[in-house]
Order: sequence, then structure tokens, then C-alpha cells
Amino acid sequence: MEQSLHLPELFGSYVFNEETMKERLSEASYKAWKKSTCDGTPLELSTANEIAQAMKQWAMEKGATHFTHWFQPMTDVTAEKHDSFINPIGGGKIDMEFSGKELIKGEPDASSFPSGGLRATFEARGYTAWDPTSFAFVKDNSLYIPTIFLSYSGQALDKKTPLLRSMDAVSKQSIRILRLFGDEETNRVTAQCGPEQEYFLVDKELYKLREDLRMTGRTLFGNKPPRGQELEDHYFGQLKPRVAAYMEDLDNELWKLGVLSKTKHNEVAPSQHEMAPVFSDANTACDSNQLVMDMMKKVAERHGFVCLLHEKPFDGVNGSGKHDNWSLGTDTGKNLLKPGNTPSQNAQFLLFLAAFVKGVDEYQETLRCTVASAGNDHRLGAQEAPPAIISIFLGDELNAIVESIIKGKSYQDGGKKKLKIGVDVLPTISQDTTDRNRTSPMAFTGNKFEFRMLGSSQSISGPNIALNTIMAQELAEFADKLEKSKNFDADLQKLIQETFTKHQRIIFNGNGYDESWVKEAKKRGLANLVSTADALPHYASKKAIDLYVNNGVYTEEELVARANIHAETYGAKIAIEARTMLDMARRQIMPAVSAYAGELSIRMANLKAAGCVTAYETDTSKEVAILTDTMMKDNQKLASDMDKVPDDPWDAMNYYHDTIIPDMDKVRASADALEQLVDEDYWPFPIYSELLFSE
Ligand code: ADP
Ligand code: MG
Repeated sequence: MEQSLHLPELFGSYVFNEETMKERLSEASYKAWKKSTCDGTPLELSTANEIAQAMKQWAMEKGATHFTHWFQPMTDVTAEKHDSFINPIGGGKIDMEFSGKELIKGEPDASSFPSGGLRATFEARGYTAWDPTSFAFVKDNSLYIPTIFLSYSGQALDKKTPLLRSMDAVSKQSIRILRLFGDEETNRVTAQCGPEQEYFLVDKELYKLREDLRMTGRTLFGNKPPRGQELEDHYFGQLKPRVAAYMEDLDNELWKLGVLSKTKHNEVAPSQHEMAPVFSDANTACDSNQLVMDMMKKVAERHGFVCLLHEKPFDGVNGSGKHDNWSLGTDTGKNLLKPGNTPSQNAQFLLFLAAFVKGVDEYQETLRCTVASAGNDHRLGAQEAPPAIISIFLGDELNAIVESIIKGKSYQDGGKKKLKIGVDVLPTISQDTTDRNRTSPMAFTGNKFEFRMLGSSQSISGPNIALNTIMAQELAEFADKLEKSKNFDADLQKLIQETFTKHQRIIFNGNGYDESWVKEAKKRGLANLVSTADALPHYASKKAIDLYVNNGVYTEEELVARANIHAETYGAKIAIEARTMLDMARRQIMPAVSAYAGELSIRMANLKAAGCVTAYETDTSKEVAILTDTMMKDNQKLASDMDKVPDDPWDAMNYYHDTIIPDMDKVRASADALEQLVDEDYWPFPIYSELLFSE
């Protein structure tokens, strides 16, 4: 039978999902689990034991010999430590054991994970606790149990805990607003997200020859190939057989794990591709995206590829990002970011929209910080991804509506109409016209916002935590006002009008790549935090602390710890790049160039002896000599500057940004010029045209 006919059975077959639980648990235990996912009630040990037994049995049927608490420390990757089920029972024999206690709680030695100063060494142990709202699964013969990761004093050491807190916050505040519109049915509002993931595939054998790719995930040297993306023939182009086989394999692996992999296509740059899943609740989406990144790398190995998730693997061609599509859905099946059909639905939509516009304007810096990284600095503002300035794109129709609300003027929609919120129906907003502007960092696309600034390698937790919390904050402020209102319709109209008027500056529908936008944005007073070093000082600003603390998402210490970790990570990444660069320059490029210069001088001598001197040898020799000296000098400067990195991570961050990166740019410039002169047989590693057209 065709594989496609088996797909419904294959999908989620390695996930201990709700259906499996229903099948394998007693009704009482199933109900207890369900209740715990809805209201956070802790499970009784006897229930946990029963679930653990059923899970173990099921996992062993899928080939699992081990289990692991799977968590998301404050890095961009996941962590796991595997314990086998084996338990000695005497006489040299074992049985397979897994208890409720082991399911619910783990104690990994946490001292080597970044804590940003949160966890003093005397209490180095953290603990992991099962998150019953995300399903366990089997991968690589282990039962994976998604967990949160906390310190013994209860501080979040991970990315899942604050995400869950932010989802609670936005649910709570959304419901307050819904109640004002007479909705008594909704009990839970869920932040939903669909992350589109970009990646590169390069040939594994070529990859191995590049120390920079192996050490840093990106090329530190190399010229743009003669053919880049100018023919625009790769985007949505036909898949090459080897890539198609990879994608098919990837889909299968993801489907088994219950990841809703939906769309796959070639991206703009050669060797660049994208995968998008069907959206889900933000918690599942974050877990799934971690699995996606993991699987992309693992499956690549089987096909002789290496998958690069770095934001900028190659200079001169587009880098990779992630689009975070975000919306709010109710447990009654409504999308709160979808314009409705009745005046009341539309008033509610406009209020949520106003909250979003106000929130993004007030917390621009906070949002910018969630996408700040050494890798992403190469993309933002570089004409290939949105600028580093946050703004919102609404599309012409919605923008016209917002303007008419601000001006209190008639809206031109066929007939002239004055839009009265809560009384009139909104004119239809067609979906397809709203998604044209690819240059906007935050675009309304009909029924969701698309946050387009994320880097391809980052966890999507941070941006979603920020969006949820910002929205919770604004909705709370609105609810505080409107709950006291004596004349709801009039006060609502006034609130929406005032909000759009005050925060209109964040709305921008023009070309975000245009230089003139930078000037215009400055005039509007919008933040332009060009680099990570500019952005991160805002990470734990007073405003950000108030935002997160008020909404119960981070404590001040938790937020400060994260800011520290980001600053440290930035420095660590640039340091690795600088050291790799020096290593390649000194041990590979300079010796190769010198060998080639030697060869040229022999040839020149021979030619001279034969009485004919040709320009190729003499001119190339001169050019090579000049560039070699420059490169030598630049190497020496980079090396000596690397000896002077300040100890404090924040000072170091600025130093790397202000001193080391310009040093590295110089080394690269001479090396890249040399690459264009030196005989290809002498060049020590594969160049861009080989790497990018190897599929
Ligand atoms: P594109 O951006 O390529 O036009 P879509 O807009 O259809 O494609 O979808 C992009 C991503 O947005 C997908 O992951 C999709 O599941 C997700 N998405 C669609 N609707 C929503 C929604 N209401 N909330 C969050 N994500 C959504
Ligand atoms: Mg998109």
C-alpha cells in the first residue's frame, strides 16, 4: 500500500498523546491527568505511578530502553540525560522499572548549565518537573518526558516555565476583556504559534573541510559566488532529488513525533530551504520547533548533508530566519485576531488590535531584545530581513480603518461611512492583500501577526513569552478601565481612538528596507537598536522588569539572569569566531598563499631566464605580496586585541562589538581578496561556489 495511506496511523505514533492515554489509563487516572493539564492540580503519587507504568509499557513497545527528562535550559537548545529502565532483582537478573516519582521529578546535576548568576554554587542542583501539558514521546530508544527546570528555591532555570506563565497571564487578561463583551463561555485563551523554519543544506564532505563551519556554523571567509540569488530561480524552485529525499525523510520523522510538518520549499538563497508546521498552542509549538531543529540536523547526516541553522552561514546571500506567526485562540474555537461579522465582534477585534499596537509601541526594546544574537546581527537591517527598528504593518485596508478611527472621519468603502465602534460592521478586510510587505518586522496577515525578526537558530520561547506578556499587560490596563465604565460603548470608542492616536507612530506600511525609513523612524522617536550590543542593555530595564514582574512571568532576578546569559553568549560566540579565524588564517590561508607566491616567483625566474616576462606572474605576485602583508598585520592586531578582552561580560560584549568585529572584518577582506588571486589548487578549503551548489 502507498505510504500516504498509512500516514494517519504513522502520525504521532511515537507520542504518548491524549488518545493513547485514554486507551491505556484507567478512567480515573485519565481524568486526573486531564484535570491537571487544565488547572494545574498536582497529580497524586498513585496516579503518577499508574501513568508511569502505562508510559513505560508503551515506550518499551516502541523500543525504548531509557527515559529522559527533556528540558530547555537558558540556551537555544534542549538538554537531556538518559537513565535506563533496568533494575537489578538479584541472581544477576533485572526487570524494567519506571516509577511515578521518576516521571514527575528529576534531579540533573545542573551546575554546568548557564544560570546567569541565579543559582549559587552551594545549591547547584536544580530539578526538572514533568509538564503534563506537553506529551511524552519516544526518540532514539528513549522515552522523552518534557519538563520544566527549576532551582531549589523555585526560580525558573529554563525557557518553558516562563512561557507557561506568560500563556496563563495572557489567558487571564483576555478573559477579562471577553467578559466585558458578554462572553461567559470562554474559559481559556491560548497563545498560538506557527514558526516557519529556514535552513541550509551543505554537502557533508565539503563541510568537513571548513574549520569555520565546524566551529562556528558559518563561513568566516569566502567571496560571493559568481552566481548568487540574482536569477531568483531557487525560491519555490523544483527540489533536487537528494534534497527531496531529505525532506521526505524529515517529514516522516517529524510526523512520527506528532509534529505537524506541513509546508516545504526551496528558499531564496541557493541551498536554502524552509519548513513550516501547522500552528498549535505556543508551548507545543516551542517543543516541536526544538524537535524540528534537532531532526533537521540528524536527518541531514543520513543524506550526506549537514544542516546549517546559523543565521548567516554565507556572506552575500540571504541568511536564515524564523517567522513566528502568533495569535490568540479561545477554547470555544474563536481567533481573537480575526475581524468578525458583527459590530460587537469587530469592536472586540479592534480592542485586541489596539492592545497589540500599544504594546508593541511601548515595549519595542523588549521585543527587539528577544531576537538579539550575534548571528542575527548579520541579518537585521541588512536588506534581507526586517530592519532592527520595530514597526507594525497593517495593510492598506486595516490601516485605512485605523486612520478613520483616529480622525473620526468617514471611511471610504464604496459608500461613505463613519465607522462607529460597536455599532457599525467593519468593511471586509481581504486576507491576500495584507501579506505583500515582506520587509515588515511585525505584519498583520489577516488573522494573526507574523513576527519576522527571529533568527533561525534561536528558541522561539523568548519572542512568544514577550508577545504574550505584553499583550497581557495591555489587556489588563484596558480591562481595569473598562470594567469601571458606566457607558461601555462610548468609553470603548474613546479608548480605541485614543490608543490608536497615541501609538500610530509604530504603524508603518512602507518599505522597511529603504534608507529613508531609518530617518523617518528616528523622527517618530522609534528605537533603532542596530546590534545586540545596542539592544541587550534594554533586556532588564526598569520598564521590562515591571512588565514581566507585574504579570508573574519573570522575577527581577530571573530576568537579570537572562540578560547576563545573553551578553555572555554573545561574547563567547564572537570569541570562538575570532579564534577560529586566526587559526585558519595562520595555519591554512597564509601558508597556502605563501606557497603559491613561492611558485609564482619560481615561474617568474624561469620566464626571465627564458627571456620573456609576463604580466600575470609579476602583477599577481605584487598584489599577493601587498595583501599578504596587510593580512599579516591584521592578524596580528586581531590576536593582540583578543588578549585584551575585559573580564566583565557586559564590557566584553561592547569590546567584541566595537573592536574585535571590525578587526575580523579586516582579516576577512584581505583573505577574500587573496582567494580571488590564488590558484584554486593552492586554496586550502572549498569556496562558496562549491559549498552553495553542491546539492
Ligand atoms: P505564509 O506565511 O507562507 O503565507 P500562512 O500564513 O498560511 O503561510 O502560514 C504560515 C504559518 O502561520 C503556518 O505555520 C501556519 O500554520 C501559521 N498560522 C496560520 N494561522 C495561524 C494563526 N491563527 N495563529 C498562529 N499561526 C497561524
Ligand atoms: Mg510567512
